Amino acid sequence: MSYTEFDVIRLFSARQKVSHSSTILGIGDDSALIKSETGFDLAVATDTMVEGVHFFHGVNPESLGHKALAVNLSDLAAMGANPHWATLALTLPSIDEKWLLGFCDGFYGLAERHSVELVGGDTTKGPLTITVQVIGSVKHGTAMCRSNANAGDSIYITGYLGDAGLSLKILKGQYADADFRSFDRLHRPSPRLVEGARLKGVASACIDISDGLAADLGHILKASQVGALIFWEKISLSGSLKKYVETTGDWRLPLTAGDDYELCLTVSVDQENELERHLAGLNCSCTRIGVIEEKPGLRILKDSEQVDFTDTGYVHFTESP
Ligand code: ADP
Ligand code: MG
Repeated sequence: MSYTEFDVIRLFSARQKVSHSSTILGIGDDSALIKSETGFDLAVATDTMVEGVHFFHGVNPESLGHKALAVNLSDLAAMGANPHWATLALTLPSIDEKWLLGFCDGFYGLAERHSVELVGGDTTKGPLTITVQVIGSVKHGTAMCRSNANAGDSIYITGYLGDAGLSLKILKGQYADADFRSFDRLHRPSPRLVEGARLKGVASACIDISDGLAADLGHILKASQVGALIFWEKISLSGSLKKYVETTGDWRLPLTAGDDYELCLTVSVDQENELERHLAGLNCSCTRIGVIEEKPGLRILKDSEQVDFTDTGYVHFTESP
């Protein structure tokens, strides 16, 4: 049998015999949730970045340090949790002091902005691989999970989609745009922690968009046993992305490209006014792009035509090495 990343996760979660009374949420969401005596639940998430898979050889170490922490903080943002601690497991091919100092600048720059303390980790020799674990807290019972979306809820996204994917296309030489200036969307994503914290109590479900809107919304749909209709024209796109779609006809990119680290959330009709109130004064936009439906599957409405849309995003072990 050929396993994908998700088969491996299922294998591990099915083997689990221990069930701790403090485990509120185990495998299957953006973070695990563990009950503590303080009235706050602990939110725990971990993500790995591997050279050649998640980033190019020779990429700026400062960006790498930033991104390794940012992608983890994004998982806490999706739960509405506040970050506190991190551990860092670094596998390095060799010691390069200049590289390490650059990496530290990126990692600690973001850590300090969000009051995250590095409390441990591991250092080993091998192919460049960076694993970060983050631990945060969220008031008991208030975390946003993937499983609570209901038919009739509206679907919202923060910010703009597709610019990280467009950066990658330009860097790979698959598309040219001399005016494109948003490479930071790929190299230095902003975890939507402030937005996530404000969305608690308003959103019925939430996920961060790491693998593309279709794939990540798909996780909400599966966990909540619902379907969705997305209004393509409502998806917020940057000027560069609009130009890309017009030039190439590739309207799928904002639905399938990963690495944006925006939030996708669902909101019930009676909470929609609250949403506006909760997000007032923030710099980040939050746009209604679709609706949750009872019928399973994801459908896209574009140019008044509805198409069934299946995209699982990047799944490790499905491509040849
Ligand atoms: P995300 O994209 O939000 O980081 P993933 O798709 O990586 O989420 O993981 C989905 C779920 O599976 C998460 O709950 C994660 O903690 C869990 N998971 C992934 N790999 C493993 C593993 N090897 N053992 C146990 N749980 C895992
Ligand atoms: Mg996630």
